[in-house]
Amino acid sequence: MTDLGRITTDAPPAAWPEATPMHDSYGRRINYLRISLTDVCNLRCVYCMPENMQFRPRRELMTDDEIMTLVKVGASLGVTKIRLTGGEPTIRPRVVELIRRMAAVPGIKDLAMTTNALLLEEMAEDLAAAGLKRVNISIDTLDPEKFRRITRWGDIDDVWRGIRAAEAAGLLPIKLNCVVVRNFNDEDVVDLARLTLAHDWEVRYIEMMPFGEITDFQQSNVVSFRQMRDIVEAAFGPLEEAGYDFVDPSRPFRIPGARGTLGFISSVTEPFCQGCGRVRLTADGKLRLCLLRDDEVDLLTPLRSGATFEELRALMRDGAYHKPWGHGLDQGLIAQGRTMNQIGG
Ligand code: SAM
Ligand code: SF4
Repeated sequence: MTDLGRITTDAPPAAWPEATPMHDSYGRRINYLRISLTDVCNLRCVYCMPENMQFRPRRELMTDDEIMTLVKVGASLGVTKIRLTGGEPTIRPRVVELIRRMAAVPGIKDLAMTTNALLLEEMAEDLAAAGLKRVNISIDTLDPEKFRRITRWGDIDDVWRGIRAAEAAGLLPIKLNCVVVRNFNDEDVVDLARLTLAHDWEVRYIEMMPFGEITDFQQSNVVSFRQMRDIVEAAFGPLEEAGYDFVDPSRPFRIPGARGTLGFISSVTEPFCQGCGRVRLTADGKLRLCLLRDDEVDLLTPLRSGATFEELRALMRDGAYHKPWGHGLDQGLIAQGRTMNQIGG
């Protein structure tokens, strides 16, 4: 039998011995790990972080080897899906090599990334060759000036080049994430929806969630799922349901006859906690049990203090067991500890 305490190199076993899938205390199976590769970003979206954001010193962030150890810990506990996020994951040095290493871990079947796409034109092919399967790309408006305002300095042409490169590299299906912010881009949901008439893409509208120090802005400018749907239906007529599976947070609809779909992620007004099998790893190595709760389990400190693989497994398994049922926004509970880029959205 493989000694789990000795699995420290990049030559993993063909399968994990005694793999016991993680469950939480409500019986939800936890098989999806989202990893924030860095809190740093090359944009400063208004709904994500303050303009003068202070990033963590590098020594506080997980190294490549530390990330790989925790990925193997997760895989040995039944994690099959990984999404790389941030901050902006493409700016992490050696990210292509890191993906190649993750793709080789037994049990990891789905490796995806959420990105602002600014660097995809040059990286998409290498990312796909390393084993990345697909990307979600953030684009909140099709209007170049509004895009610059929302991101504080972004050039939308870079995103279009990134989308085309992702398609050419086979990082499919393409999903476009749009956080809807009142008075910034609430009317732009129509232009984004129009893209699905000709493209086999999923445009996903996300309700803005409140975190930490920019809560006031986020709460006073949230646009609800119902309001977004009304705006889209006023332009295109009633949407058709396109098959909700209760595991994906996005509820899919279609404009009749369109090639692509429209997804609505209603985390604030109609949460979908019953199907949530996700936990997150922050860039500084904490297992975050719910996006919208401050509950975390420190994995990096024990790892740096010499914890064995088996001890790390116990920490992750026990942490996941205590995943809270849902967020407490309707009771006024707002996670204060971190902004979105630090958690890994
Ligand atoms: N930089 C990458 C990007 O923008 O795609 C990955 C990290 S970003 C934090 C991940 C996702 O979180 C993006 O789709 C972004 O739009 C979303 N996001 C950021 N702040 C949010 C908020 N306050 N509410 C809802 N979604 C948010
Ligand atoms: Fe950066 Fe993504 Fe946050 Fe925008 S949403 S500031 S691109 S991490």
